[in-house]
Amino acid sequence: MSSFVVALDVGGTSMKGGLVTRSGEIVRTDRRATPRDRGPAAVIATIRSFIDDLATAGGGTPEGVGLAVPGLVTAEAALYSANIGWRDVPATDLVPLDVPVMLGHDVRTGGLAESVLGAGRELSDFLFLPIGTGIAGATILHGEPYGGSAGWGGEIGHIPVFPEGEPCACGQIGCLETYASASAVARRYSTRAASSSGAVSVTAERVATLTASGDPLATEIWGEAVEALSLALASYTLLLDPSAIVLGGGLAEAGTLLSDPLAERLQKRLAFRQAPPLRQAALGMSAGMLGAALLGWRAAGFADAGTTWSLDVLKSPRVP
Ligand SMILES: [Zn+2]
Repeated sequence: MSSFVVALDVGGTSMKGGLVTRSGEIVRTDRRATPRDRGPAAVIATIRSFIDDLATAGGGTPEGVGLAVPGLVTAEAALYSANIGWRDVPATDLVPLDVPVMLGHDVRTGGLAESVLGAGRELSDFLFLPIGTGIAGATILHGEPYGGSAGWGGEIGHIPVFPEGEPCACGQIGCLETYASASAVARRYSTRAASSSGAVSVTAERVATLTASGDPLATEIWGEAVEALSLALASYTLLLDPSAIVLGGGLAEAGTLLSDPLAERLQKRLAFRQAPPLRQAALGMSAGMLGAALLGWRAAGFADAGTTWSLDVLKSPRVP
């Protein structure tokens, strides 16, 4: 086959891998469990064998390898991840082949893919906001993700929105994530419902369905999530003037049930300017892997990787 890179999106639960050609064709995708409970050495060994197996499946030596990983990251090393438990792992330790490698922060790498290939394709400056188990953002400036001075940038999920509110797992009070992540919506509904009718356990998807059908408690919890998001996004808008906010992750699957009231509340908070439009992310769960492919091609010396790829890349096989 034609030349390819190996792309890997390393998450806390599973890793998504793929082989992507120079023209953006995704010729193979695969998934493996992240053995987090067996410690960082086991995770590194799994990454190495996954890359090796993907390269072998490609039938040749890849031009490069790109990896999206959580935590504090530079292009050359995974510095720290509370989620995986590693510290100061050089990129070359993650790859069993002597080929160029580039690492990226997981959410920022997804943001890079949305910028080059997805919903931000023709936008210069926007916020990519995946709302899942947690909330982190990728600030895209001039088409590239911006991670701040030390790589801590984009932690919009820990902006305090209700300073007298509920404690967050991070140690602060009233963080956005405590009210508006998919797990927060599910947890807050379950807790409140249980106080009146015994143990209840629901998903955020179920709370969305209940909200759509007019259930009062679900509507209240959903409304608080929207309120929290509108507060954080008003601050982001006033500070950075994005041309759009690209919503992704599990909660964004609710579509207009989330985006319509959020757009309305965001506009109400902004007295003297237009709110940026809200858009749905285009690449779904493949964003991190596609961004890692862009990093792999950049490592191989093709800085313009992706810019000429056809939008058919979006119709390519998704990660299983
Ligand atoms: Zn927090």
